[in-house]
Amino acid sequence: VAGGAATTGASTTTSPAGSPATGLVEVRGVHKSYGTLEVLAGIDLEVRPGEVTVILGPSGSGKSTLLRVINHLEKVDRGFIAVDGDLIGYARKGDTLRELKEKEILVQRTQIGFVFQSFNLFPHLTALENVVEAPVSAQGRDRTEVEAEARELLARVGLADKADARPRQLSGGQQQRVAIARALAMRPRVLLFDEPTSALDPELVGEVLDVIKDLAHGGTTMLVVTHEIGFAREVADTVVFMDAGRIVEQGPPAQVLDAPRHDRTKAFLDKVL
Ligand code: ADP
Ligand code: MG
Repeated sequence: VAGGAATTGASTTTSPAGSPATGLVEVRGVHKSYGTLEVLAGIDLEVRPGEVTVILGPSGSGKSTLLRVINHLEKVDRGFIAVDGDLIGYARKGDTLRELKEKEILVQRTQIGFVFQSFNLFPHLTALENVVEAPVSAQGRDRTEVEAEARELLARVGLADKADARPRQLSGGQQQRVAIARALAMRPRVLLFDEPTSALDPELVGEVLDVIKDLAHGGTTMLVVTHEIGFAREVADTVVFMDAGRIVEQGPPAQVLDAPRHDRTKAFLDKVL
């Protein structure tokens, strides 16, 4: 069992509105190897409810793998991850843990939204159908109700008039905004973004970042892997710099971006800035 004795405890944080905030992410002692390559070499990270953490780091440093283990796309070798005190991949039974069954994993995964670099929309479905699909099929929600919510979400990402368009009729920026609406439709506790603007033409990056900023201000817990330093400076509560499977340093943007303590962080920032 991964890491064993987890004593995560539920969050006691409350949102400004007074309701309990959700979306506490805890990553403790996570290791992950592919063969002899250790891709995550002991990751400890906490994202508080409603906060935005931006993850920076060179190619191959393990950023995508970190998001993928949070979303069950890969299993950890050691350590554990919990969202709002629920262990990813495991259920507590008294003092012991058991691995979740396939069906339970799908349910848990629906609580975590994932936006990929490559949009991954269903090409044969309209924008609206792309947003409606998972809440209906994976969460068993009422289609009519989900459709109404999906239209609101498309409006929120600035695509009210594109509900009936298919992906190929949309620009990359528009497709990515549909993908964000699709992730939101699951009402996730946490949103993970893996280089959401890296596949876009430069002139389309801003519209997608604006949508993500809007969500950040709305209090969604987010982990965002990106090379957009300006975005990190403006939106992140915490910036994490990873290299070779480790967190080299983390802190508020002003500290990590403007006064990095480690040479590796400095060298990386010199390259991307
Ligand atoms: P990043 O997102 O920071 O670029 P990744 O997490 O994608 O880094 O990859 C980290 C390392 O793990 C890389 O060396 C990559 O080649 C390797 N890796 C990622 N996924 C796999 C896999 N499924 N099998 C083998 N090696 C992998
Ligand atoms: Mg990556």
